[in-house]
Amino acid sequence: MNYTILDCYTDEASGLGVPPYIGTYPRYLYGHLKNKANVVNYITIDDLRYLKIYNNIRKEVTKKDKTNIRIHNLTRDDISPILEKTDVLFVNLGVHVPGKYLTAVPGTLKEVIPLIKDIRCKKILTGPAYFGTQLEGGKFSEKTDMSIFNEKKWFNFSFKDLKKISIDGVDIIKQIKNYKIIEIETGVGCNVGKCSFCTEPIKNRFLNRPKEDILKEIKAYYDLGARYFRMGKQADFYSIDEPIWLLKNIRSQCPDIKVLHIDNTNPVFVVKKGGDEITKAIVKYCSSGNVGAFGVESFDPEVVRANTLNSAPKISMRAIEILNKYGSERGDNGMPKFLPGINIIFGLNKESKKTHECNMEALKKIMDCGLMLRRINIRQTALLEDTPLTKTVGNKFLKKNKKYYWKWRNDIRQNIDNPLLKRLLPKGTVLKDCIAEIYDGNTTFLRQIGTYPLIIGVKGRVELGKFYNLKIIDYMLRSVVGEVV
Ligand code: SF4
Repeated sequence: MNYTILDCYTDEASGLGVPPYIGTYPRYLYGHLKNKANVVNYITIDDLRYLKIYNNIRKEVTKKDKTNIRIHNLTRDDISPILEKTDVLFVNLGVHVPGKYLTAVPGTLKEVIPLIKDIRCKKILTGPAYFGTQLEGGKFSEKTDMSIFNEKKWFNFSFKDLKKISIDGVDIIKQIKNYKIIEIETGVGCNVGKCSFCTEPIKNRFLNRPKEDILKEIKAYYDLGARYFRMGKQADFYSIDEPIWLLKNIRSQCPDIKVLHIDNTNPVFVVKKGGDEITKAIVKYCSSGNVGAFGVESFDPEVVRANTLNSAPKISMRAIEILNKYGSERGDNGMPKFLPGINIIFGLNKESKKTHECNMEALKKIMDCGLMLRRINIRQTALLEDTPLTKTVGNKFLKKNKKYYWKWRNDIRQNIDNPLLKRLLPKGTVLKDCIAEIYDGNTTFLRQIGTYPLIIGVKGRVELGKFYNLKIIDYMLRSVVGEVV
């Protein structure tokens, strides 16, 4: 049997699998299939577009063009020999929390179905799309004719299964050319949340992955040469199985790790007893530029109540202070060591003009107290099947308030994001090890490798794929302008 995994990339509230991240789904599937097949291939939606839309011809990017990120993540020059021999094609797909991606465009069902239609093999749809998918915020799940798929399958590997599967899966990175950040899973489900928009409590019951297994998986990738890791597949890093033990042991067993970051962080557990100690350990053992992404979603108490959000505004503020207290010192790559990031969602139940006022009031307070945020993510909720939000109010508030979203977002970008950015990176700060990612006209965009890296625009073109140290010379709304030093 020849199996092929087609990675169309995934993005969920807990877990990122859009390049440069390699998510858990293709890795685990690879490990699961490896011992059942003669060959398991890993290809990407970029490979498929390159073959089917561009006939395997890449145009030169002239000084007027932008790098074509739809075909940026190729694994090979030509996948047709692979497709000809494929017996079963596993299509890994699903975006639940749509974002903007600098170097990739996730595949949608609408896009991928016509592209695989004439491939003669069995086709299985897998990944978060099992629960619905939507690449654009503010919309219901994609509705498409799925009859092309022989099966729709959710591989519900237990942590016991993953002991072997996750290690068998590490060889997948031998088939990937570009650098990769390995997204590591530390737990499933959510121990507190019943947030109205979220699919995590629907997908999984809360369970932590054994810390020894997490360590073994990281070590296995490290031994193959991987140096960039994010422990990002979990609802809350502070609630995982002995986080301090884990961080300490990763550092001692993988001493040359370059990036070790985390992601989702529940403010409730940051302020709880023991939270200070975990924060200090994250600062000590992780690399700089680290972000604890707080799912605040809204500072409006009425919205918090109506959507059973996990953190009350007061608790979120206290958690922001704690991360700033221990993590705001500048680290060796030029970024503060560990800062909070905030997620704000538009379109939740009971959203009103007052919601924006509450958000602005809280964000202004953060500024006035001299605190820092690494970033504020603002998005319109996607309405996924079976979530309480979809089942109760659906798109009622999205429709009602849509006319304000540009204004609300712009208010935050102009009056909060931009001044906070200047505080975060005063002019003259040097950011080290920024990789050149894409061109847009006569500008090169670079970023550091890791979680929520800042985008830095540099005038002129520097060679892509190479690392540079950049001095900050100016600011855009959410990004910065730098020059090579
Ligand atoms: S805290 Fe809320 S958003 Fe986060 S995983 Fe739990 S239910 Fe989902």
